[in-house]
Amino acid sequence: MVANCACGLPVARRTSWTSDNLGRKFVACKFYNHETRQRGCNTFEWIDEDILDWQRDVVNMLVAEKHRFPTDSNILKSRLVCETYEKDRLAAELEKLKNAAELEKMKMKPCKQHETRQNRGVVGGNEGIGSKFVVICVVVCVLLVMY
Ligand SMILES: [Zn+2]
Repeated sequence: MVANCACGLPVARRTSWTSDNLGRKFVACKFYNHETRQRGCNTFEWIDEDILDWQRDVVNMLVAEKHRFPTDSNILKSRLVCETYEKDRLAAELEKLKNAAELEKMKMKPCKQHETRQNRGVVGGNEGIGSKFVVICVVVCVLLVMY
């Protein structure tokens, strides 16, 4: 492994993030810029052995999954917000239905009272008929006694 690059400076130990060599360690000129290639020298050497195809696939898959986590997490968070909203909405709906049922119950009560009053009226009516019957009986008796 090289210790110094062509510039005469100690090499930098780095990790590759390309999909072909994901996670593979190498040493290179600390000034070398892969994009501009204008600084430093071309000193470059892999430290790790070349990875096998299946290792490359596994590593790439794991990294892709890792990148997917924040997205999945955000999706789950927004789903949770929706579920919470839906739960609150349903709770409010339930409360409204309970109140409506209570109101309906209250409306039913006066009906029962009304029926009771009607029954009383009927009873009173019967009493009225009874008293009229008594008066008629008395009149008939008086008439019978007179004749
Ligand atoms: Zn260099």
